[in-house]
Amino acid sequence: MYKLSAIELRELFVKNKLSAKEIATYFLKRIEKFDPEIKSFLQVLHKRVLEKADLLDKKRKSNAPLGRLAGIPIALKDIMHIKGEITTCGSRFLENYRAPFDAAVVRFLEEEDALLFGKTNLDEFAMGSSTENSAFFPTNNPWKLEAVPGGSSGGSAAAVAARLCPIALGSDTGGSIRQPASFTGIVGFKPTYGRVSRYGLVAFASSMDQIGPLTTTVADSCLVMEIIGKKSALDSTCLNLPQESYFDKIPSSLRGVKVGVSWLFMQDLKKDIKENFIRSLDLLKDLGAEIVDIDLEMLKYSLSVYYILATAEASTNLARFDGIRYGKRSSEAKTLDDIYDISRDKGFGAEVKRRIMLGTFVLSSGYKDAYYKKAQKVRTIIINTFDKAFSSCHLIAMPTAPSTAFSRGAVQDPVEMYLQDIFTIPANLAGIPGISLPAGFDKENKPYGFQLLAPQLHDVFLLGCAALFEQAANSFARKIPPLFDKEAL
Ligand code: GLN
Repeated sequence: MYKLSAIELRELFVKNKLSAKEIATYFLKRIEKFDPEIKSFLQVLHKRVLEKADLLDKKRKSNAPLGRLAGIPIALKDIMHIKGEITTCGSRFLENYRAPFDAAVVRFLEEEDALLFGKTNLDEFAMGSSTENSAFFPTNNPWKLEAVPGGSSGGSAAAVAARLCPIALGSDTGGSIRQPASFTGIVGFKPTYGRVSRYGLVAFASSMDQIGPLTTTVADSCLVMEIIGKKSALDSTCLNLPQESYFDKIPSSLRGVKVGVSWLFMQDLKKDIKENFIRSLDLLKDLGAEIVDIDLEMLKYSLSVYYILATAEASTNLARFDGIRYGKRSSEAKTLDDIYDISRDKGFGAEVKRRIMLGTFVLSSGYKDAYYKKAQKVRTIIINTFDKAFSSCHLIAMPTAPSTAFSRGAVQDPVEMYLQDIFTIPANLAGIPGISLPAGFDKENKPYGFQLLAPQLHDVFLLGCAALFEQAANSFARKIPPLFDKEAL
């Protein structure tokens, strides 16, 4: 079962070849056996999964209609709410916080009969690129346990890569779906901003946060998008779009498709990343695509803009964690000010504090014009740069990350860590969709990722082209890390 995609697994359930209970116990067993080595889950929802499986088996027996995710194990990054369950956001602050409502995506998954398996580890409040900022423990990369799985959706990526579940959801504010997908050799898709509701996703940087799937195949990402990519009345930033069908629009070749590449922006690529990237471009050419040169040099300012805007938004979003309305209240506090001070001091980790301080600074009177407003202006220029580029190409290609997975503890300097996101952040600033696809392995057998970007709202087209790339790259698509390519007996 672990080798199957979600779609294949559902097929067996629907055709009565497997019961939902068999699927549920099989994957619970895999998690029990392998997750102690990977540490991708913060919480496994045993009882919930078994109850739902029972319900599904009864449904099938009575020939009741089965949802499109019937019997499919799905994990959620622990920053999305499931009513009645704990949402920690990877933070001590919310260790005991029980969600009073379901996220919109959770509702959609439930309605389609998914088996919600549990909550996965992340960098605290989704701030980071390695999952080392989790307040609880770091997650290990299934391809090499001493390496990080990327972040911040590292738990979701590692769980899918090790086939502890075929699908997980992540959130991507500056690359947190795509970069961990790249580090763990799976597919990670960030939709157009607003296509998926953020209702029930704890906010980090509201103008960039977007939920998306991490899967082993592009088809599974299409399936998830058909279900979660729709309007929710509970989120005013959710676009009012008709539900799209992704499967019937997969093109038969890339003939006539122009793929833009900006070598100017990627001047400093490491040798092996560059060589692998060129190999991926060759696959696109084999599929009929034309590679064209575009100018994205302006994107070199993306990182600076992001770390002003994302921290500004985070500093206001995180003001609600005060020990009163949400989160753990310090028992040492004697006065009201103490409650705020000590609760926040004890509740937040170092990276979150760094971002709150930076965000507060760039918004403070006297500096707002110099930093925050200026960054907003440059964001507009970046959006215009993409618009101009997309007038001469249909897709843009880039590596997903400037390196393959690094070792735990190897990147200590925060700025060096921020540089991880140089190729993923631009898509969040412009609100455009992006996907990371498995694209081969380095000398240590760690995965490379290949990233494709499309204009806003062209999600269906992007996934269709990605499906073709996946076929062409079949020698390294759907590969399973050797350590976990076995049954959990
Ligand atoms: N690594 C980036 C950051 O730390 C992106 C995080 C994300 O996408 N959630 O901000």
